Amino acid sequence: MDPKTQIESLRAELRDHNYNYYVRDDSSISDFEFDKKLEQLKTLEAAHPEYYDASSPTVRVGGEVTKNFNTVKHINRMYSLDNSYSLEDLQDWEKRLHKIVDGEVQYVCELKYDGASISLHYENGKFVQAVTRGDGTQGDDVTTNVRTIKSVPLQLKGNDVPAKFEIRGEIVLPWDGFHKMNEEREEQGLELYRNPRNTASGSLKLQDSAVVATRPLECLLYQLAGENLPYKTQFDGLEAARKWGFKVPPQSKLVDGIDGVLEFVNHWDVKRKNLPYETDGVVIKVNKLQNQEELGFTAKAPRWAMAYKFSAEQVSTRLEEITYQVGRTGAITPVANLEPVEISGTTVKRASLHNADQIEKLDIREGDEVFVEKGGEIIPKIVAVDLLKRPENSKPTVYATNCPECGTELIRKEGEAQHYCPNDMGCPPQVKGRIQHFISRKAMDIDGIGSETVDQLVEAGLIKNYADLYDLQFEQIIPLERMAEKSAKNMIAGIEASKKIPFERVLFGLGIRYVGETVAKKLARHYKSMDALMTMPELENQEQDLFNNDSNESADNNTERSRSVKAEKLQQLSAIPEIGERIAESVVEFITDPLHLEVIERLKAAGLQFSLSEEQLSNTSDALAGKSFVISGVFEMSRNDLKKMIEDNGGKVSSSLSSKTDYLIRGENMGPSKLEKAEKLEIKMISEQEFLAMV
Ligand code: AMP
Ligand code: ZN
Repeated sequence: MDPKTQIESLRAELRDHNYNYYVRDDSSISDFEFDKKLEQLKTLEAAHPEYYDASSPTVRVGGEVTKNFNTVKHINRMYSLDNSYSLEDLQDWEKRLHKIVDGEVQYVCELKYDGASISLHYENGKFVQAVTRGDGTQGDDVTTNVRTIKSVPLQLKGNDVPAKFEIRGEIVLPWDGFHKMNEEREEQGLELYRNPRNTASGSLKLQDSAVVATRPLECLLYQLAGENLPYKTQFDGLEAARKWGFKVPPQSKLVDGIDGVLEFVNHWDVKRKNLPYETDGVVIKVNKLQNQEELGFTAKAPRWAMAYKFSAEQVSTRLEEITYQVGRTGAITPVANLEPVEISGTTVKRASLHNADQIEKLDIREGDEVFVEKGGEIIPKIVAVDLLKRPENSKPTVYATNCPECGTELIRKEGEAQHYCPNDMGCPPQVKGRIQHFISRKAMDIDGIGSETVDQLVEAGLIKNYADLYDLQFEQIIPLERMAEKSAKNMIAGIEASKKIPFERVLFGLGIRYVGETVAKKLARHYKSMDALMTMPELENQEQDLFNNDSNESADNNTERSRSVKAEKLQQLSAIPEIGERIAESVVEFITDPLHLEVIERLKAAGLQFSLSEEQLSNTSDALAGKSFVISGVFEMSRNDLKKMIEDNGGKVSSSLSSKTDYLIRGENMGPSKLEKAEKLEIKMISEQEFLAMV
């Protein structure tokens, strides 16, 4: 046999054994035999480097070292999932689905694996890249490490594998392997790993892939993504992935209606204790891909999927002390410092108490014995006090009156649960937090400054707010500890480059409370410039002032006037679709604060974008202002582009038909009940072409 054929046949054979052992959990060869053949292959490959192949089973042993993981943009965004906790939650979800989807809905129930999300890319049947979820829009390239995970197929099977696609899954560390790793740690006198999930995600970021190769990680797959995939339902997608060689857990089940979902949930709530890996719930997905298309996504999660969280384990422990934390926005969170206790495999020392009302409602006091639960959130919470065990000298909790960081008196607005420290330009965590938010990816995206650097800059007194960034000089930052010349240069260049960031992101970066990404976009589109947003309305009866000589009265009048100007501005803002009163108030407060005005002036002077660009202006119009659209069916252009076009032109997209809907844009395969409803409500139906003619 010539070496090439020999190498290829060994690879194929080892690949099969690997598949049987790691994907099908069924071994077809002894470890000894396997290792012998692997050695043989290694020797042959070393002698014939011309036949190198990144998909060879020999690359599984790792060895490549990654110093820095590259950031990669996801082709398809990696969303999070909405959570549900009860039958009612699920029924509500189904009701929402039925507003958009016609007929009976079938669901695929899957277990929610608790590990690190991963996206695997394949081209021409070969594994080419693995990316972590990161922030959902971009993640880290961890290909070299993931290649060492034996259940990740490097070469797919079958002849119907799409030329190019992405598959999502979870890298988990099964209990067995986790316990084994901890036994070794114990022998070596090292600190034990806390839980399988953190160890799994930590493993992906190890620099030495040979170490990753020794960890008993597994990759469970649950979702295909890409264009023109050869199946029409989630369930068939799973089946196809399984056939191509992926480890798709066998528990996934196709069920009818929410009753079927509930049966699955109840079954696994009990049986999950026997599973080889940790699960914290069930993921329910609408089976038909066409329905998934119609349902689309919210800003955070698909509408066609829902996580159901199993109810959490509860333990009791002593609350030692209540302390207060100040967040980036000045919000105060009371924190319970607990006598350390173990819940679901993790040691818990702190729990969130949410706010003053919560403390009062549960009458939580220092010294109490409390019940702690680790639910859907990462931070555990206190659910009740064991009143029988309350110490005799116990005193009701008096909530903090002053900021623990800067001493400023706390405020609490009417109707709000949270206390705030109002000293937003002087309170250290707020100062740092605002700047960190400003430079973050979704805002000014300033490369070259990490959060530690912000801390350093603030502590060195070099910056007090984000406008100060634009005055920073190379000579000022180079003396900072651990600051290399190259990073200092990067930082200055990053700051300079941020001057091109579009207006809406600058607006988001300002960190106005309640003005998130979406709201910032809306405000930017509506006002088109910061000047327009900040211009206060003119009031009638300006001349009144002329008749008023008494200075006291005039001062009163001035405050009166400024109050009604503000009220007018509030109204103006609240009249913008989807801008609520709370947002409007926060905006008005921000733009009337002299300290903020000064900072904005400085940012303007530095050359930041404070109005929409020519290009943005020419793509937007008010042609559809006040008009509400529903889109249904399949279109030539993508649904997202269609939605964007409606919004860019001032229209509003909603997901279900109502008497307020002005137009239904109908695509192919629109469901019959939607058609009927549209006819009943006498909603004007237009085609994609007719819509395009409107804009
Ligand atoms: P969350 O992080 O709570 O928003 O939940 C979303 C995450 O659940 C995803 O990013 C996945 O990592 C994870 N997940 C685990 N199992 C599944 C599954 N069967 N389907 C979808 N997502 C899953
Ligand atoms: Zn403060």
